[in-house]
Amino acid sequence: MRSVADHARAVADLFSPTPVESVAIADALGRAVVDDVRAAVSLPGFDNSAMDGYAVRAAEIADATADTPTRLTVTEDIYAGRTDRLRLDPDTAHRIMTGAPLPEGADAVVAVEATDGGVDEVAIATPVAEGTSIRRAGSDIAAGDTALTAGTVLHASQVGLLAALGVAQVRVHEPFHVVVLSTGSELMAPGVDLDHGQIYESNGAMLCAAVREAGGRATPVHFVPDDVEQFRARLDTMITGGGRVDLILTSGGVSAGAYEVVKDALAGHGVEFVKVAMQPGMPQGCGTYSAADGVSVPIVTLPGNPVSAQVSFEIFVRPPMRAAMGLPADRTRRRARLTDDMRSPRGKEQFRRGVVAVDAEGTASVHPIGPPSSHHLRFLASANALIDIPADTDDVAAGSTVEVILLEP
Ligand code: AMP
Ligand code: MG
Repeated sequence: MRSVADHARAVADLFSPTPVESVAIADALGRAVVDDVRAAVSLPGFDNSAMDGYAVRAAEIADATADTPTRLTVTEDIYAGRTDRLRLDPDTAHRIMTGAPLPEGADAVVAVEATDGGVDEVAIATPVAEGTSIRRAGSDIAAGDTALTAGTVLHASQVGLLAALGVAQVRVHEPFHVVVLSTGSELMAPGVDLDHGQIYESNGAMLCAAVREAGGRATPVHFVPDDVEQFRARLDTMITGGGRVDLILTSGGVSAGAYEVVKDALAGHGVEFVKVAMQPGMPQGCGTYSAADGVSVPIVTLPGNPVSAQVSFEIFVRPPMRAAMGLPADRTRRRARLTDDMRSPRGKEQFRRGVVAVDAEGTASVHPIGPPSSHHLRFLASANALIDIPADTDDVAAGSTVEVILLEP
């Protein structure tokens, strides 16, 4: 049997980086910038007021008190957006709004609350130190500084910084395109009444969602007949059908049964089927499928049981797919104290569903939920972590420390 680490490497070797494109910053949300982004302008771009108030020379109001306020003539009204360059003459004040450019000669802003709010003349009741309520040009970022380093993922605040710097477009990796192919004649679409022996198809929706959550694009396909020629013909159509396909991801049809269409159609066609020493998810396959016209596409064949399929996606597909888009590949792993005794099959790395909780002191504990079998989708749906039990371990006692993979950011 192949180890999880070896199979992960075999799958990762099939992936290559997606092309780089230039997109509007709004469309780059969740994607990673390919280059360092340098600030073309400073932020702030000019000295400006941090308050609604009065631009003054601090020394001129040094003796102001509530009883004997300093009175200054107000000679200008500076609103945010005024573009003329002003100068503050001695013994005068300019009324100034937040974000408005500071006049030359002013060295402080007195907040309107410390004044009588006068329009032609202002009475100032308290002195302020030089520099008060002034936002200096370049104090946030100076032109030429690195605003974002290559590889930074764009969330709302990074998009905000780019917008503030006047950046309209950034270079990012194109999304990774995955065709998610479900096989099995028992699988029905939602909305139909099920006959005995039929189930609703769930891997397609789940794996497409997983691909999208990881930053990729997914197209679901359901292939029904157990016919290898038709299966290969369908793959060929998908590959040569026009749109880019970076990966074909199948589920089902790879284990030891009699109707294993994926395995039967692809064994000997560039895809290697192996047993991986893991639970869930032992039957796996990966390789490069060559379509009839010579185009070849990476293919990963996941087992059909929903928990196996989803766990296999997490372990084998998600990391290299994210890396191909320049995104951080790995989920956070941490140590946690196990709340219950657990058994794990010796010789297989086990990924059990768990709920991780962190107490006020920051200590993490993990509660294993649901049986190990791989049809218990409901428990997977209430887990926030996978408990990763090494292959050489069979008994894990409550209270011991285990490694968990956090499924949430
Ligand atoms: P297979 O690997 O095709 O033998 O499938 C193993 C188990 O997973 C069977 O119980 C299948 O019915 C189930 N299964 C396979 N594919 C899907 C799917 N797309 N949605 C839900 N269950 C599936
Ligand atoms: Mg099947």
